[in-house]
Amino acid sequence: MELSRKIIGVKPSTTLAIGAKAKELRAAGKDVVAFTVGEPDFDTPENIKEAGIKAINDGFTKYTAASGIVELRKAICDKLKNDNNIIYTPEQVVVCNGAKQALASSFMAILNDGDEVIIPAPFWVSYSAMVEMVGGKPVIVYTKAENNFMLSKEELEAAYTEKTKAIVLTSPSNPTGMIASMENLEDIAKFAVEHDIIVIADEIYEKLIYNKNKKHISIASLGKEIYDRTITINGVSKSYAMTGWRIGYVACPLNIAKCISTIQSHMSSNPNSMAQMAVLEALTGPQDSVESMRLQFEKRRDYIFEREEEIPLIKALKPEGAFYLFVDISEVCGKKYKGTEIKDAADFADRLLEDKLTAVVPCADFGMKNYIRLSYAISMEEIKKGMDRIAQFIGELE
Ligand code: PMP
Ligand code: GLU
Repeated sequence: MELSRKIIGVKPSTTLAIGAKAKELRAAGKDVVAFTVGEPDFDTPENIKEAGIKAINDGFTKYTAASGIVELRKAICDKLKNDNNIIYTPEQVVVCNGAKQALASSFMAILNDGDEVIIPAPFWVSYSAMVEMVGGKPVIVYTKAENNFMLSKEELEAAYTEKTKAIVLTSPSNPTGMIASMENLEDIAKFAVEHDIIVIADEIYEKLIYNKNKKHISIASLGKEIYDRTITINGVSKSYAMTGWRIGYVACPLNIAKCISTIQSHMSSNPNSMAQMAVLEALTGPQDSVESMRLQFEKRRDYIFEREEEIPLIKALKPEGAFYLFVDISEVCGKKYKGTEIKDAADFADRLLEDKLTAVVPCADFGMKNYIRLSYAISMEEIKKGMDRIAQFIGELE
């Protein structure tokens, strides 16, 4: 029997698959260093856990409004106003099962068959899959390292066709760790307004910025015309170490929010009720744990970048945010390891895992086949051990 043509060509998430493989090897007793899935190693802060436990004990265990409880949507509006200088009403906010669902429902809400979405490469693997799954067409546009992996005005214009419906903007970026400058944001905003297209602004890493001279700017805050065309995506997985709680959200023009809420009411109903209570505490309670985790990520970023710089044949830009190091291994490809040539990043990753028990994400599915991504959301000891092993592997190349 023929299955859905929209799904049949879509591969399962690489990041989740590689993360699972590393966990499996660990469970089998192997001392694997996993620079794989982007998941903070920190525990969810105590006050947030307590709020979740209290919700269960209070019997807050039933369905809520499909788009989330109004207290939480109000708290999200306050956060967006205070941190991001964007004004939304609770009706414009939908609380979802992670930013992932917020993104998937957004694409479902705006795309008709054949509509194009500009996705600057390298990109987080799920965007293109999400677009394809709802009948849209990802238009992958390659960025350059010398432009901090951001698109220039000319590159944006060259990607435009009459079918362009939206553009994805991820800042800080997964996988590059780079941050869009004001100029980049203004170019995208101008482009979106001129061509009347939607910007999907994924701001999930906004709290994780390390460069003193960089700050997060929400594109929707740049003016009314771009506000009217922006879908702002955010969540708590990364900044509050809450990946398993599965809460993210979307804030956008009212007609789109209503459409997303309708989709959610049929697809999954409300996000988990006690997790919503925990997130209410996360957003309204003390914020010191966010800063303390950020500081630790910053130390790790400095260390991993320094180590990478010492290793010959590989190169990377110093990440400005998020928790990924995006490494160019094109000079490694073609070299021999134990007598056989390394074909590409996937081959490199397989052999590094096999021989040195170190798991990294090959980035072909992020649009760049000669790059690997190292997540440094793991302990300093693990980072050190993993970088020692990568250095050893590279040192053994013939
Ligand atoms: N956007 C980006 C750029 C991500 O890296 C992730 C990681 N999972 C997500 C969205 C989704 O996050 P979550 O569903 O855990 O909120
Ligand atoms: N976003 C994280 C990553 O890129 C988590 C896994 C996923 O959802 O893809 O590793």
